[in-house]
Amino acid sequence: MSFDLKQLLRNNIREIAPYSTARDEFQGKASVFLDANESPFQSDINRYPDPYQQMLKVRVSRIKKVHPDQIFLGNGSDEAIDLVIRAFCEPHEDNILAIKPTYGMYKVAADINAVTYREVMLTRSFNLDVVSLMKSIDKKTKVVFLCSPNNPSGNSLIRSNIEYVLNNFEGIVVIDEAYIDFAREEGFLPLLNSYPNLIVLQTFSKAWGMAGVRLGMAFASKEIIQVLNHIKYPYNVNVLTQQKALEILEQEEQTKQNISTIISERDILLPKLNNLDVIEQVYPTDANFVLVRVKDPKAVYNYLLNKEIIVRDRSKVALCEGCLRLTIGTPEENLLLLDALANFK
Ligand SMILES: *Cc1c(COP(=O)(O)O)cnc(C)c1O
Repeated sequence: MSFDLKQLLRNNIREIAPYSTARDEFQGKASVFLDANESPFQSDINRYPDPYQQMLKVRVSRIKKVHPDQIFLGNGSDEAIDLVIRAFCEPHEDNILAIKPTYGMYKVAADINAVTYREVMLTRSFNLDVVSLMKSIDKKTKVVFLCSPNNPSGNSLIRSNIEYVLNNFEGIVVIDEAYIDFAREEGFLPLLNSYPNLIVLQTFSKAWGMAGVRLGMAFASKEIIQVLNHIKYPYNVNVLTQQKALEILEQEEQTKQNISTIISERDILLPKLNNLDVIEQVYPTDANFVLVRVKDPKAVYNYLLNKEIIVRDRSKVALCEGCLRLTIGTPEENLLLLDALANFK
């Protein structure tokens, strides 16, 4: 396979000169900052943030074992998804390909950028049909989005299938690993330097418990990260988010403990759900949620709602007919859910 990043980029992006911030132009030590038209009155937030979040990236680098130059941080994974499409896809011309069913944001970002969104149906067991995926690719397909563990199905895609796509598609392969911390297998970060066309997305919104701060990660070659840096908003991650994330990343042990609690709760919950009359099928999951099939999803949804338990109705989604998606909660919350479902008539 031949991969040529320059060739793959959208024409205008290839030529672009990035906006140069005051912080880009001066990075040394000083005590009087009169270069950015900020307020001189000191507070936590009177200065612009570091546009490249270097302190945060050093921390992330240690945790993820990826070089800081191979890390992009943005306003949620959403920002990285949008930037990848913008960097590689010519509006009204190119297309991206994603699996179906999957996370909704790839389509939203494609639609906003006037890029055609193609879908390739997963198999009944939510696995990749690699032959049909490769058949859906043409010269105008610039990016393939794979989500593993996949939302809303919960399963990890089969590793050799993902590797097949990485080895045979000459465009960008994005693997969205939002739920990787809950998975049994490790993700694709260790293979980052083996595949110049690979972008791995992860997030602080799930396992790290920081959905509120909006912080997402993209990992790729230094060259791809440089492109994303060139086209992002200069100060895309604000001071408060950077501070809060640094603080939470210090509590790595607590996060690991929370992840093992979720995983052991998942192990307890799945067989119990399986034993309930109301549940017809429990799908295997590698994430912090589980997809279950019931006879009357709307009725079960409304019944739970009435008990102030909110779940996600995915029954209108392809291959998810009759399905509800249940997030794993605290042990107490999971008991409430089980108890409610056991009493459904
Ligand atoms: C929740 C989720 C994300 C996280 O998005 P953020 O913008 O980082 O909060 C990304 N991808 C998938 C598949 C998700 O389910």
